[in-house]
Amino acid sequence: VKITADVQSTMHLEVRLKKGASKHEIEKCKALISECAKQSDADLYNWRSFVVEHPELTAVVDQILIGCQNTPDGQKLLLGDISIPENNVHVYNVRDGDAFATSVATEDTESATVASHHWELPCKAFDDLWENLIFDDNIKNELLSFVYALLKLSDRGANSNILSVNRMVLLHGPPGTGKTSLCKALAQRLAIRLSNRYKRSIFIEVNSHSLFSKWFAESGKLILKLFEQIEECANDPHQLVFVLIDEVESLTLGRTSSFKGNDPSDALRSVNAVLTQMDKIRRFRNVLLLTTSNITDALDEAFVDRADVNRFVGHPSAYAIYSILCSAIKELQRVGLVDPSAKLDPVSSWQHFTDDSAHLLRLSTRCIGLSGRAIRKLPVLAYSKLSKDQLTLPEFFAVLDKAIDEKTKTNE
Ligand code: ADP
Repeated sequence: VKITADVQSTMHLEVRLKKGASKHEIEKCKALISECAKQSDADLYNWRSFVVEHPELTAVVDQILIGCQNTPDGQKLLLGDISIPENNVHVYNVRDGDAFATSVATEDTESATVASHHWELPCKAFDDLWENLIFDDNIKNELLSFVYALLKLSDRGANSNILSVNRMVLLHGPPGTGKTSLCKALAQRLAIRLSNRYKRSIFIEVNSHSLFSKWFAESGKLILKLFEQIEECANDPHQLVFVLIDEVESLTLGRTSSFKGNDPSDALRSVNAVLTQMDKIRRFRNVLLLTTSNITDALDEAFVDRADVNRFVGHPSAYAIYSILCSAIKELQRVGLVDPSAKLDPVSSWQHFTDDSAHLLRLSTRCIGLSGRAIRKLPVLAYSKLSKDQLTLPEFFAVLDKAIDEKTKTNE
């Protein structure tokens, strides 16, 4: 597919540096990097990383990723004589460190409870998530475009009474479909793209379970403390703050009868406390609230109404499953556990599949109904079934077949 001018302007090049390499030094090489990307044309796919072979760059550049919101994920890119605008070249270092946990406590509890985890972005743990998440629809591109636009609007000081900007995203759907990973991956991409605008980006994952399962009657106070910590981060306008509230339904469960043995008025108070606090931090222009939920129907309307994006994420189709399994097999080949000479076709050439690829697609069809998480586990389970150092592709398919059998039976 030839690239047009408007695609060109939304095409970004993300350059991940090797450990210890200096960002300032590489800034000078931006033109060279764009040039190298062009030379790798044969193997260029949207949102797929590649390694450059250039004497000046190999020592400093770890990998390069070209991403374009206007082009489907994984589609082949033909750069031709198009070059990527220099403003769209983003150079970044990833941080190795683990998240640090913050806790909150009230006077009446002896021990503190871990309320959230903080990461400084871009971080290593989140970096490959984006590339490895595979969906049937265009959800990754759509989310990125939308949230990018939201942050731009907020940045320009758009009046949110006229233009509805809530800076809140809600992803819902069955467990294990990649919602949490997608939130993390999205934050990472935005942190990289907006690094000129914000000095720092942090990602705060709220531990909703620990806040709500214990000390139920007190959680109102704990929530207040937690949000005070978040507000402190948001007070710095040079800092971009992502707040993830996973399984947001656990916060609102208090309103239903399923939370037995608790005084319903306490529960209600807690929910209202959360909503009030969420509204408070949403007012900061540099905050984006990411929420996920495993249920759809029972979700509190108050949550649903607030979200700018409310998106269902479902189980993958056979073609998406094929791509997930392919990436897992490629990794097994890279580490030498499956015969590296065997080739599998990209899903886009399904009409001309080789026998091996057609076989894998048949296996993928049998996984329909499983979550992305369950599918990612299959190749490891399969590999463990044959204690051989290296499997041929047909041998691997045979054990994968068994693993699928087991998994789909236990799922019924
Ligand atoms: P959820 O938040 O929906 O429960 P997670 O984000 O925790 O799901 O997903 C768990 C793991 O499952 C991810 O780390 C990923 O490896 C795998 N996974 C889920 N969905 C997909 C997908 N669509 N493509 C690739 N991997 C997926």
